[in-house]
Amino acid sequence: MKLIDGKKQANDIKEKLKKEISTLKEQGVIPGLAIILVGHDPASEIYVKNKIKTCDELGICTLLYRFTKESSEKEIIAQIKDLNEDDGIDGILIQSPLPAIFNEDKIISYVDPKKDVDGFGINNLGALLSNNELIIAATPLGILKMLENESVSLEGKNVVVVGASRIVGRPMATLLLNRGATVTICHNKTKNLKGITSNADILIVAIGQAKFITSDFVKEGAVVIDVGINRIDNHLYGDVDFDSVSKKASLITPVPGGVGPMTIVMLLSNVVDVAKRRAK
Ligand code: NAD
Repeated sequence: MKLIDGKKQANDIKEKLKKEISTLKEQGVIPGLAIILVGHDPASEIYVKNKIKTCDELGICTLLYRFTKESSEKEIIAQIKDLNEDDGIDGILIQSPLPAIFNEDKIISYVDPKKDVDGFGINNLGALLSNNELIIAATPLGILKMLENESVSLEGKNVVVVGASRIVGRPMATLLLNRGATVTICHNKTKNLKGITSNADILIVAIGQAKFITSDFVKEGAVVIDVGINRIDNHLYGDVDFDSVSKKASLITPVPGGVGPMTIVMLLSNVVDVAKRRAK
């Protein structure tokens, strides 16, 4: 078994991004990311703080717009429209989840697709589905990068994605399909999950249930990517039972230190890509 070191891979990408950002600055372009944070969800506060910290480290300019759950949808949409018109802003991120009273899909739909660096808008998701990829959501993009870095071939491979969310499972499965893999998507209504996952050459799990995938779900020699982040008693656990599955897998991501660190750098890589287009 070999561990896929997401932290190291993310650091390598950060170094590459730093160089690209300094070249952009020589051309008079400073990449800019606007973050819209509504309410005070503790996890969102931490995610936003980490995103801003990493942007500072790399030289990406960030602007944080805070709204409360008493703010109106109209106010938030007006802010998005201003940012769409702002030439200094390359990416607009709506920190999810919004408080339940807001219609998240509607709010995201106002982000200019060219600045939708999360890739969650209908335009970017539709482009992905039609195999005309534009901006790809950071978590699936990070996983794809990890597989590429580990020279895992995808063409003709039997890939099983467990979890069908809009931000991970669905875009992940589509990215792999676009690269010639044979993809099965499983979810909480899937029957005989074990029978399906145990045929996977590559198994990607994003369900949000600690240690759910044990070794009897996994084929000998499979590549296993664990997206799950489950906090229990101040410890982080993946969706995969690492101790048992790592004995069977040929390659596996740890939690923490696997997919997580890649997600944030791929988001910032999306911002830099938009800034490069601006520089042209
Ligand atoms: P979600 O709740 O939106 O979707 C979960 C999906 O898993 C659903 O499609 C559901 O049907 C399926 N599912 C749930 N239980 C199942 C079961 N027992 N068997 C089969 N399918 C099942 O979740 P999400 O936003 O995609 O996140 C999933 C996990 O990934 C969470 O732990 C989340 O914290 C983590 N996550 C990590 C990163 C990262 O950067 N590492 C990014 C996003 C999400």
